[in-house]
Amino acid sequence: MSVLVMKFGGTSVATLDRIRRAAKRVGREVANGHDVIVIVSAMAGKTNELVGWVEETSRFFDAREYDAVVSSGEQVTAGLMALTLQEMDIPARSWQGWQVPLITNSSHASARIEEIPTKNITAKFAEGMKVAVIAGFQGISPEGRITTLGRGGSDTSAVAFAAAFGAVRCDIYTDVDGVYTTDPRITDKARKLDRIAFEEMLELASLGAKVLQTRSVELAMRYNVKLRVLSSFEDNGENAGTLVCPEEDIVESQVVSGVAYSRDEAKMTLISVADRPGIAAAIFGPLSEAGVNVDMIVQNISEEGRTDMTFSCPINQVARAEQAMRAAKERGEINFHDLVADTDVAKVSVVGIGMRSHAGVAAQMFSALKDENINIKVITTSEIKISVLIDRKYLELAVQALHDSFGLEREG
Ligand code: ADP
Ligand code: ASP
Ligand code: MG
Repeated sequence: MSVLVMKFGGTSVATLDRIRRAAKRVGREVANGHDVIVIVSAMAGKTNELVGWVEETSRFFDAREYDAVVSSGEQVTAGLMALTLQEMDIPARSWQGWQVPLITNSSHASARIEEIPTKNITAKFAEGMKVAVIAGFQGISPEGRITTLGRGGSDTSAVAFAAAFGAVRCDIYTDVDGVYTTDPRITDKARKLDRIAFEEMLELASLGAKVLQTRSVELAMRYNVKLRVLSSFEDNGENAGTLVCPEEDIVESQVVSGVAYSRDEAKMTLISVADRPGIAAAIFGPLSEAGVNVDMIVQNISEEGRTDMTFSCPINQVARAEQAMRAAKERGEINFHDLVADTDVAKVSVVGIGMRSHAGVAAQMFSALKDENINIKVITTSEIKISVLIDRKYLELAVQALHDSFGLEREG
């Protein structure tokens, strides 16, 4: 029997009516002869609401209890999807993460999947069940506690199931009809890509294009899962959506294939720290222990043995970062005059495999931003991407300017 994985994101299961529409799609695939594994997200907005409740209750919350709360949205949609399918006379059963069990490590709130035993579900398929509906985003730790896979984690659940069951394909149904050259919400010039290379998608995702969770792309690449992104609202023909595939399968690649952004960034600067061996370790060690995901780092030129150290992190980790730095100062591990947080910044990045063999992309990017009078605060580069930190109020303008400058717009 061929197994197909179909994942429905929050907007695709936002109401009972939409769940019915999604279930009809599932029904068509069952009629095509597949055993289907459906992965569902929570209803649109639900997880945000749950996260909000946790943050309002406890500033430096216990991540185990965060997971207990935020995993609940998927429990509801999994049950509702199974019921809807049953109403359509399709044999279906729901599974929570712990029931599968989808075993993760113990990194609560951003757990990594370690194992998905296929025995239980395969046995049910053998008995005639046609659809296994799985609550996405959640798993169980070796200690037996509920874990979640990080925001957007249902994508990763889906790809992991596809890998574990050797699925013919993993279809990610969402509110856009594929992966675009940039977020179609920012510019209507964004163009849908028929194919995108794993590595480019990996960069775009990790730089903020939330259409796929980064980890899901990593897994698909590692296990060679056929991964497709498509619309749950439109009729999708045979070649609909975007196929995320190996680089070799892309005939024509462009120098820059996409522009990504991340709105919720913060820039923090430690003013006047001693410039001595070990200072970076003394700063970034405690930050990492506090669970702060440091992204960009800049160390300024030192004067008289002291320097400023700037780093960026997600805006909701600023309080944690401040606490970690002040504690390290109190312990005498670091000494700084001041800690300044700039919470009005955003990150914009251009991504493309073609950058490996083309010079001048950075210069073109900086010049496009200069033409719009946008000041760059921090720059980082890697083999296939360039990222800059800018004032958040220029974010849309910057994305549009870069999209234009690199000629990514829709033809005709
Ligand atoms: P779901 O709830 O289905 O998982 P998400 O909101 O997580 O959906 O992801 C889909 C959204 O990703 C789109 O609505 C779009 O605004 C955003 N997005 C960001 N960058 C891109 C991109 N390059 N291509 C397509 N969508 C993108
Ligand atoms: N519901 C979770 C979130 O909003 C997981 C997901 O939708 O992928 O992050
Ligand atoms: Mg998502």
